[in-house]
Amino acid sequence: MRILLMSTSVGPFGSGIGGGVELTIYNLAQELMARSHQIQLVAPVGSSADTLALTTIPGEVHPFAQNESRSADIRVPARSVLNAMWQFAQTLQHSYDLILNFAYDWLPFYLTPFFDTPVAHFVSMGSLLDPIDDLIRQCAHRFPHRLGAYTQTQADTFGLGLPWQILSSGIDLNLYEYQPQAEPALAWVARIAPEKGLEDAAAAAAATGLELRILGKMQDESYWQWVQSQVPAAQLTYLGFHPTPVMQAHLGRCQGLLMTPKWIEAFGNVAIEALACGVPVISYARGAHRNHQTWQDRLFSGTRWH
Ligand code: UDP
Repeated sequence: MRILLMSTSVGPFGSGIGGGVELTIYNLAQELMARSHQIQLVAPVGSSADTLALTTIPGEVHPFAQNESRSADIRVPARSVLNAMWQFAQTLQHSYDLILNFAYDWLPFYLTPFFDTPVAHFVSMGSLLDPIDDLIRQCAHRFPHRLGAYTQTQADTFGLGLPWQILSSGIDLNLYEYQPQAEPALAWVARIAPEKGLEDAAAAAAATGLELRILGKMQDESYWQWVQSQVPAAQLTYLGFHPTPVMQAHLGRCQGLLMTPKWIEAFGNVAIEALACGVPVISYARGAHRNHQTWQDRLFSGTRWH
């Protein structure tokens, strides 16, 4: 098949701003190509994608859904990159057998009935915003079997009562190395943003007396400053955002990975990446795998980031 992959509109592909969906797109594209499908990726200007055929589109990136309140109106930047990406897809649609959307944004779901070429959606978030969820619901009713999710628990957050394609996630194990000796440190790997709950991991690290090594895109500098001020006893080492080979080498040297999400994590690729390095994962039972109250309030009962 000839498949057009439509990337997230929150940032350039390869920058890390898009989070785990960037790795999902990359791995999926590699596997589809290995199965002889023709793949073309469409992503915002500034993107880079190694060997993937890539078309970059100019325009303004979109705000993060996780920073909006559930019933808020959808905000569209004046020169929206998402609009431009979908105009491009509309123009080229007859050259493709399938258009596969990865953006949790209203436009791709709204446009689905207006395309001749089938549009399918890999939804990489849990339910977050009512206006988008409404369009996902309409899409599901009108086009059953065109919605995919990582896990059933993630799909259930939308409460559609309709079947989803459960696609799971995957990584290329060749890129990860098992390291038998660990150093006295814990790892935390995520975008540095409030919904990832770094303050809880810092508190846990402080309680153990272990260094916390932090890897991930610096999305919110003021939040990072706040975490440091809240947990002065924690030994926090920010190592930056790195390509997978470098990231996994750091991660593999740690005794464990802490995952402390404050939101319904759609999957959390870093969990399977840590396991691929032989690093145990200590996580809240929240997100794609489970969804109930956790012990976070006991661990960190101080001020909350708002
Ligand atoms: N990541 C990376 N380099 C780093 C730190 C993180 O490539 O230095 C990647 C990691 O491989 C993972 C993504 O960032 O794919 C984080 O995705 P996750 O699904 O855990 O959370 P999200 O950001 O999507 O909420």
